[in-house]
Amino acid sequence: MSSRREFVKGSALAATACLLPASAQKKNRIALTPDASPAVEEDHGWYNRPMRWAQLAFVEDDPGNYDQQFWLDYFRRVRADAACLSAGGVVAFYPTQLPLQQRSAWLGDRDAFGDLAAGCRKLGMNIVARTDSHACWQKVYDAHPDWIRVDASGQRVKHPSDPRYWETCALGPYNFEFMTTVHEEIMRMYRPDAIFTNRWAGSGMCYCEHCRENFHAATGLDLPRAGNPQNPARKQYILWRQQRLIELWRLWNGKIRAINPGASYIANAGGGALSDLDMKTISELSPTMVADRQSRRGLMAPWANGKNGKEYRSTMGNKAVAGMFNVGIDDEHRWKDSVQNGDEIRMWVADGMAQGLRPWFIKFNAKPIDRRWLPVVEEIFQWHYANQKYFRNVRPIARIGLVYSQQSAWFYGGEEARQKIEEPALGFYQALVEGRIPFEMVNDRCFDAEHLAPFRTLILPNIAALSEAQCASLRDFVARGGGLVATYETSLFDEWGVRRDNFGLAELFGAQSAGKTRENMLNSYLNLERDPATNSYHPLLRGFEDAGRIINAANQADVTPVGEDRFAPLRIVPSYPDLPMESVFVRPGGAQRPGVYLRQVAEGRVVYFPGDIDRTFWQVLSTDHGKLLRNAVVWATNEPAPVLVEGKGVIDVAVWEQNDSMTLHLVNLTNPMMLKGPVREILPISRQKIWLRIPSGRRVGRVHLLVARRDVAYRTEGDAIQLEVPNIELHEVVAVDFAA
Ligand SMILES: [Zn+2]
Repeated sequence: MSSRREFVKGSALAATACLLPASAQKKNRIALTPDASPAVEEDHGWYNRPMRWAQLAFVEDDPGNYDQQFWLDYFRRVRADAACLSAGGVVAFYPTQLPLQQRSAWLGDRDAFGDLAAGCRKLGMNIVARTDSHACWQKVYDAHPDWIRVDASGQRVKHPSDPRYWETCALGPYNFEFMTTVHEEIMRMYRPDAIFTNRWAGSGMCYCEHCRENFHAATGLDLPRAGNPQNPARKQYILWRQQRLIELWRLWNGKIRAINPGASYIANAGGGALSDLDMKTISELSPTMVADRQSRRGLMAPWANGKNGKEYRSTMGNKAVAGMFNVGIDDEHRWKDSVQNGDEIRMWVADGMAQGLRPWFIKFNAKPIDRRWLPVVEEIFQWHYANQKYFRNVRPIARIGLVYSQQSAWFYGGEEARQKIEEPALGFYQALVEGRIPFEMVNDRCFDAEHLAPFRTLILPNIAALSEAQCASLRDFVARGGGLVATYETSLFDEWGVRRDNFGLAELFGAQSAGKTRENMLNSYLNLERDPATNSYHPLLRGFEDAGRIINAANQADVTPVGEDRFAPLRIVPSYPDLPMESVFVRPGGAQRPGVYLRQVAEGRVVYFPGDIDRTFWQVLSTDHGKLLRNAVVWATNEPAPVLVEGKGVIDVAVWEQNDSMTLHLVNLTNPMMLKGPVREILPISRQKIWLRIPSGRRVGRVHLLVARRDVAYRTEGDAIQLEVPNIELHEVVAVDFAA
């Protein structure tokens, strides 16, 4: 077991700690000293080479029962240049000598992993060995009962799906000792380029003796039983668990690299605001990452794949990020061996590729039953291969950054993080897609001038928990001429989720907290006001000036203006009875406070909505709210856009620059199944008029369409080109080759 001192030394959340004032560091015992040594040197090694990934996840009866040559032929045909193949952990698919690692009962004297890996190597593919550490066999339980996960009632936990297995503790010796020997054995026998572990971070809270002792040694507290992040033990646990996992990551990485210095450990980790390991820290640890967003389920837009890509790229920068997609139906009913329809796979993967993900397909079970997905992936991968130089992106061209904040999710959102933190972001995301505005995601730990340099405007969708230092960075950003659009309780809490007396950004907003927050308001509206100075409507109201009034948000921070009450284009009509019908009329009087605060700060523009218009938009999808959010971004940005796309339909737009070219991706998401259910068919959209700005210092050589496979006529207009795309099936890429 690691001692307290080792634990402190291995601190991974050092950068979070740096954001803390000294008083908060005292309050929060896990706010530790920086550890400057990177686990992985800054060499990109082989990691930037693979453009297309194949993952074949064995099931136990695959050895001897599946057709290896079929897969090797398929990998060659789809031009996959890297493979992730099941090696060990739960079941070993190679002749392991470790007595506690169970060989597949079908393995016999075969080496299923080794043989397939050798075949892939002959094709020139990089090899990543896949392990899984979340479950173990009875013999492991018998030898080390303390390696098993223990639930809150003190019971060791049987695997919920297959009762032959037990769930393992992720933060104790099962991972730190046993899985380390598994990884070392695989590295020694096969020298793969990396090891990737599925479900390495556990299956929920563990109350085993190791977790109890280690947590107490680190914090002086007992493991939390409450979910509320303001509970001191829960707050410490959120940080402590991360530190244990980062410590594990560093351990495995070190052991792997001691055997093959060109290899590394790749954790299945990360994502957006709702992910539980700090994205900035893990991006610094990892030379490449895999976005594990396998497919749609429930209410989910197809742009969710691209969103995940942007979240990884916000901290990974130009390091390669692969986008894992499952060819099956990924649902709570867990049809792991199923096959999704082809157009659904096409749309999901197209959006990921457009937003910078390198496609990585996953197939569970090497004995395919339903083969309909095979030609679909083949077609996608072959097109990607034919155009791969246009996927070697150097930088995205986007002037808008949509901020996400893990600390807001952990410490302010807590168990309601999805509703309070993710939904406002989803609403803004949808509004920007509908508004055809290219944008990037921005991690709130990356507010330094270098990370923010590409952006003209930052959007803060209820980014509630912000430190003083983060608020200062945002003030600097606006002082440098940046725009800011913020909603609801943004900056009303510190980085630990503790409520402030006033917004950290009150000065920028021109609004101060009046103390309360109104939740679940009924029947409240926003009146549209003409500017008395010009007798006209503000550009914020463009597209619905004739409305008179529109619906308000459902939740609203109670705020009053700082200084004199200036003109506001929207005024709040407070709630009035919604029943009986006779009672539904606007009462005279009542405070008509601003529904939006607009400020010009030197060259920068700030828009603050006291209501959660973004979250309400996600829930209700009112067209007025969508336009309002888009207009707010356009007004705050106050410069010509890098691209304008005019025409019908819902299109996810992305613009990229490569070494000798630029690309404009247009992904047609127009579909009745856009938010729920697999798309039944792709519905083409008609003519799109495009105005695309060419980066300064570049001259246009050739403009062509990568899907239609033909050149396209264009007109030069100042520093932009104008062209038309007559129709788009699912995805079109306008490629502009620069003249030498
Ligand atoms: Zn444990």
